[in-house]
Amino acid sequence: MAEKRDYYEILEVGKTATVEEIKKAYRKKAIQYHPDKNPGDKEAEEKFKEAAEAYEVLSDANKRARYDQFGHAGVGGAAGGGFGGGGMSMEDIFSQFGDIFGSFGGFGGFGGSSWGGSSRRTNRGSDLRVKVKLNLKEILNGVEKKIKVKKYVACSHCNGNGSENGNSYSTCHTCHGSGVVTKVTNTIIGQMQTTTTCPTCNGEGKIITKKCTFCAGEGILRDEEVIPIKIPAGVAEGMQLSLQGKGNAARRGGVNGDLLIVIEEEEDPDLIRDENDVIYNLFLSFPAAALGGTVEVPTIDGVAKVKIEPGTQPGKVLRLRNKGLPSVNGFGRGDELVNVNVYVPEELSDKERKLMEEMDKSPNFAPSKTAKKSVFNKFKKMFD
Ligand SMILES: [Zn+2]
Ligand SMILES: [Zn+2]
Repeated sequence: MAEKRDYYEILEVGKTATVEEIKKAYRKKAIQYHPDKNPGDKEAEEKFKEAAEAYEVLSDANKRARYDQFGHAGVGGAAGGGFGGGGMSMEDIFSQFGDIFGSFGGFGGFGGSSWGGSSRRTNRGSDLRVKVKLNLKEILNGVEKKIKVKKYVACSHCNGNGSENGNSYSTCHTCHGSGVVTKVTNTIIGQMQTTTTCPTCNGEGKIITKKCTFCAGEGILRDEEVIPIKIPAGVAEGMQLSLQGKGNAARRGGVNGDLLIVIEEEEDPDLIRDENDVIYNLFLSFPAAALGGTVEVPTIDGVAKVKIEPGTQPGKVLRLRNKGLPSVNGFGRGDELVNVNVYVPEELSDKERKLMEEMDKSPNFAPSKTAKKSVFNKFKKMFD
């Protein structure tokens, strides 16, 4: 998949554009690239879909906020993610945003579009939300999980249309299957054409003559589905990914809702996450800090050897480059920060006490000027 373009760029609006400005910008693009105006033009079709996708996100306050924070990954456009990013069909676009074209009915607009979607109303299933808990290693590498989801699926006895055996229905006689009725009125500025949902079939275009007994004519049944989900590397607590069309099935053969996957982070026993960095608290014994040497520290994907300089002070932070987490946008990895603590023994044997008393007589055991200055500066910075 080609690199996705910025949604604001697609609609040519600023980051602070209002909902009204976004709607206006989308309407402009939608008219420019409308399939009726550009028959057979694949590029225009792509542009049309691209604009619809941008509008879908930017017109929804929640999605827009996630997009602003996490980019395409936050709204289901993660690279290679199988999140259905960019997967809006022409039908989806017309069923979701048909109203935007509807307001052009006045100039005979797009009502009779060959795509038909702007007329017949399509039911849409509701979105489902599931939580997925990940450990740091799964976040580091990205992971594929199979999750069991309880949801509405299309009834298999009627193929989801709600009629007995799937064939006990007839075309609505009021709207002849279009789902809408058109009224022409004369006004001072000329003829106005208004289109409304057909009252006989509620916009469905057909009338069920005998209801399916398995689903009572609803076309959907409660069931379970195991859904494989691919989670990209670098996600974080609270992020939400959406799998298009994997939510609840709609009544009587409409468009499925989406499955929203909310990321939860499992607490790691050793490592604390700070954005793309991880922090490890290393405890050295007092002699080990004085003598220096090599120690092993846990990392997200194993252990790393860390060199301790003789005379290392508590509070020193050692940086292990690229041992943190990747950015969800795929640029580089964070670091692991090893925060050095020195453990002072809380109990001593008689022998140890004697040794300590002996050591304490040495001037080397009195804090040096540099050590004092360094702690002074650190605190000063903290309270500035
Ligand atoms: Zn009808
Ligand atoms: Zn049924």
